Amino acid sequence: MAPPRDGVRLVTDDIAMMTRANTNCYLVNAAAGPVLIDAGLPGSRRLLDEALTMFGRRAGDIAAVLLTHAHFDHVGLCRSLHDEHAVPVYVHESDAALLRHPYRYAHESVRLKYPLRYPAALPGLIRMVAAGALGVRGIEPHYDLLAADEGSHPCTPVFSPGHTYGHCALRYASSRGGAPVEVLFTGDALVTYDPYTGKRGPRTVARAATADADLGFRSLDALARTRAQVLLPGHGAAYEHGAVRAVTEARRVGVD
Ligand SMILES: [Zn+2]
Ligand SMILES: [Zn+2]
Repeated sequence: MAPPRDGVRLVTDDIAMMTRANTNCYLVNAAAGPVLIDAGLPGSRRLLDEALTMFGRRAGDIAAVLLTHAHFDHVGLCRSLHDEHAVPVYVHESDAALLRHPYRYAHESVRLKYPLRYPAALPGLIRMVAAGALGVRGIEPHYDLLAADEGSHPCTPVFSPGHTYGHCALRYASSRGGAPVEVLFTGDALVTYDPYTGKRGPRTVARAATADADLGFRSLDALARTRAQVLLPGHGAAYEHGAVRAVTEARRVGVD
């Protein structure tokens, strides 16, 4: 399962997947206005404009940004969308400090040793830097993802701490060819490509970027319980075989 190449692709009738430097964000073309799930890297802007055009929308139409978590590689466009178009940003309260300072995150293991131990990850990490990974600015104002009013956004948060303390996956009822399909945006709670090791297939992210790996493993139960058919991760290709199988596989391979 190769990670997707840079670009925009339609994954369901109303979800566009945007990939830059092995990092994904998604545009949901919801009835009340398009919603951005995670905000990628600063270099993701051209892809966002392309996805908006796909749905006949503009940046000013974006109803909300929903963050699975506030690591720098998921908040890259928050600042410009908020400043230029007053787009509201939703995040779990436990990640609010991270949204202000997207590089001040807790992690269990020394980050620098990973590129040495996993040289396969190095080209990907260099591409992240080229896409602006070192120049992300945080923002202060935000809305609490869990306290959001009914109807303010079209997703159901699934609290899944571990990768960060406020991580939430997001459920969304989408469709393919008009037939209903349950989608789960898994953020970095469950990915199919780990940027820190270069390993592929369903897994949790390495301890280099994870606050509490054991907690993250326990949170996988919450993802499995959704029984979502299609998993859309923060890194790597879409997973089409369902949440239960993805979680079983992630548990089997363990964490680096
Ligand atoms: Zn992350
Ligand atoms: Zn990430």
